[in-house]
Amino acid sequence: MPTRRQFLRNSAFLAGGLLFLPDEIRAAPAEQSLMILHTNDFHSRLESFPDNHPKYPGQGGIARLKTLIDKARKQHDHCLLLDCGDVFQGTPYFNRFGGVPEYKWMNMAGYEATTLGNHDFDMGTEHLSDLIRNHAAFVFVNCNYGLENTPLNGRILPRHIIKKGRLKIGITGVGVNPDGLIPADLCKGVIYHDPIKSVQEQVDLLRKKEKCDVVIVLSHLGFEYPGNQVSDRVLAAETHGIDVILGGHTHTFLEAPVSVISKNKKPVVVSQAGWAGLQLGHIKLTFK
Ligand SMILES: [Zn+2]
Repeated sequence: MPTRRQFLRNSAFLAGGLLFLPDEIRAAPAEQSLMILHTNDFHSRLESFPDNHPKYPGQGGIARLKTLIDKARKQHDHCLLLDCGDVFQGTPYFNRFGGVPEYKWMNMAGYEATTLGNHDFDMGTEHLSDLIRNHAAFVFVNCNYGLENTPLNGRILPRHIIKKGRLKIGITGVGVNPDGLIPADLCKGVIYHDPIKSVQEQVDLLRKKEKCDVVIVLSHLGFEYPGNQVSDRVLAAETHGIDVILGGHTHTFLEAPVSVISKNKKPVVVSQAGWAGLQLGHIKLTFK
């Protein structure tokens, strides 16, 4: 089954992406392609790293990211720009302006959806809720945080559907266990639910009820761990019905996305694009 999908490198962009050509037909009536662009763990890196930075001299920054995004939009009729959380924390922009410039950047770039990372709670749920209400023109998806008793109630969707041409794209999001990662006073009232069970519920709804052609999970669980902590790889293997998992949290740089076999023996594409806007992940799906 996995060999039915052919993977090709695409050298036109920064590392981290590939062309993904499933030859199986889902619900789309004729050929259409979708270019998924993705980032994660932006960590308030609006500017590029300094030229004398030991690891990433002169790299990153929103000017470069925007150039790549614009280029992709010129080359592809249908692009989807997504993020996987931890937009905040890491430069004085966040400490001084509380996340407003980061969301303004995401609005300007045309992000369509993101999920909640642990650092997105760094100024508390009330601050985050106000920011989303006043400054975010994009959607937040998460299905495993119970937010009913927090100021975020109603601001975060368990699932979201975006249409591109004839394609119906279902998106859900999943977050890491806040225990030990987010100070208790900053995520007061947030109830953590099992990620695998929560995601499966949403994927089933997107597949069976909403009849989505593509199902994407925006994850902040992390790519993989040595123990049995739930990660994107574990999520892919222990669920069914997901096409693509875009991840964050572990700041993982990949040569190209990996393929993980799901519970019902179908390949799931799992990707992550480093951090700090150093890469723009790109996955092209073609439906014939
Ligand atoms: Zn994180």
